[in-house]
Amino acid sequence: MNIKQRYEKYFKFRRIRKDNKNTFRGHRNSKRLVCSVRSCLFIVVIIYLISLPNYYSPINAANSPIIDNIECGAMEQFGFHIHAHLDIFVNANAYTVPALIGITDNCFYWLHTHDQSGIIHIESPEERNFTLGQFLDIWKQKYALVQLFNNTITDNTGLSVYINGNMQRNGTNYRDIVFHPHDEIALIYGEPPANIPKKYAFANGL
Ligand SMILES: [Zn+2]
Repeated sequence: MNIKQRYEKYFKFRRIRKDNKNTFRGHRNSKRLVCSVRSCLFIVVIIYLISLPNYYSPINAANSPIIDNIECGAMEQFGFHIHAHLDIFVNANAYTVPALIGITDNCFYWLHTHDQSGIIHIESPEERNFTLGQFLDIWKQKYALVQLFNNTITDNTGLSVYINGNMQRNGTNYRDIVFHPHDEIALIYGEPPANIPKKYAFANGL
């Protein structure tokens, strides 16, 4: 082997080493990429698992406890979906039923209001009887036949309840009134209004 051949052999060897090194580096890079994809997936799965119980289980149980066997769900439920309308009069003045009764920062009770229209949404995963008393409890009103908001109900003031214009007989436990689709319920404390509502014009689809 002459010097030229020796040099050629040497350079060939270096070139092979360099190629190998590059291949090796490339291999390592792709390996690193695979690792990072894997760790990304891992992180995604962990985040998913951590968020899972918050999504499905009773949310923030402290803030949104089950009330009268009615849960607060992460989403609106449409298994059983009806609407009723509530009017309240205190000494002939209309009392506004507030918006967002039964809607918290992160969940919907199966009985709730969206706006101040007085429409009560009954949206439950199962069909069963829901009552005025349950709605008032979710609203956190004291009403229990002795008090309507800050008004104590006495023999003088009375409290009458009308459903679709029909006065409920004395002695009815108003809390037990069951909501039916498109019921118009009027609670009347003290002096009655000139007209007692008989029917509410629900928008299409409600
Ligand atoms: Zn609804």
